[in-house]
Amino acid sequence: MKPQIDVVLGDITTQHVDVIVNAANPSLMGGGGVDGAIHRAAGPQLLEACKIVRQQQGELAPGHAVITIAGDLPAKAVIHAVGPIWEGGEHHEARSLEDAYLNCLRLAAANGYKTIAFPAISTGVYGFPKAAAAAIAVATVSDYLTRKPLPERVYFVCYDEENARLYQRLLTQRGQELDA
Ligand code: ADP
Repeated sequence: MKPQIDVVLGDITTQHVDVIVNAANPSLMGGGGVDGAIHRAAGPQLLEACKIVRQQQGELAPGHAVITIAGDLPAKAVIHAVGPIWEGGEHHEARSLEDAYLNCLRLAAANGYKTIAFPAISTGVYGFPKAAAAAIAVATVSDYLTRKPLPERVYFVCYDEENARLYQRLLTQRGQELDA
C-alpha cells in the first residue's frame, strides 16, 4: 500500500493530529522558530513537562527525541526532536536528521498514535539545506510507513512555500515510481 503522506502549508500548532513534532534544541527549554510557536500555543504546562524530562535525562543529543503532553494544543502529545546543526555536510548531519525522523516515528508508534505532523526539522536556524532535508524526510518517512503499521498517516507541515513545493515534488516522484 502507498504510504499515507500529505503536505500542508501552514502552522503546525493548529494541526488536529495525534502528535506534533517540535524541532527542539538540546536544552528542551524552548527557543525561537517552531519551538517558540509550539510553546506559546501549548502554554506553560509544556515547559514544565520539558523541565522534568530535562532533569531526568539531561540535554538531548542531535537525532534524539522525547515525548510530552501537549498542553493547550489540539494534538494529544508533542514529540521534541533535536535535529543537527548544519556544519557543511561532513559531520554526519544527514544521518542525524534521518535518526531524528525515525525516533519520532518510533515514539509515535510506541504510544499507539496514528497521525503525526512534522515541521521541516533543522531547516530554520540550524541551516540544513532545504532540498536535502526534504529528501531525507520524505525517504525516511515513506520507507518507515511501508514497513510498519503505526503511525498510519504523516503530515509534513511547511511554513514556507519553498518547502511545500520541495516536499510535494518529492512525493509526486515517489508516487510515480511506485505506480511504475
Ligand atoms: P531548527 O532550529 O531545527 O532549524 P526552526 O524552528 O528554526 O528549527 O525551523 C524549522 C522549520 O520550521 C523551518 O522551516 C521554519 O520555517 C519552520 N517553522 C517555523 N515556525 C513554524 C510553525 N509555526 N509551523 C510549522 N513550521 C514552522
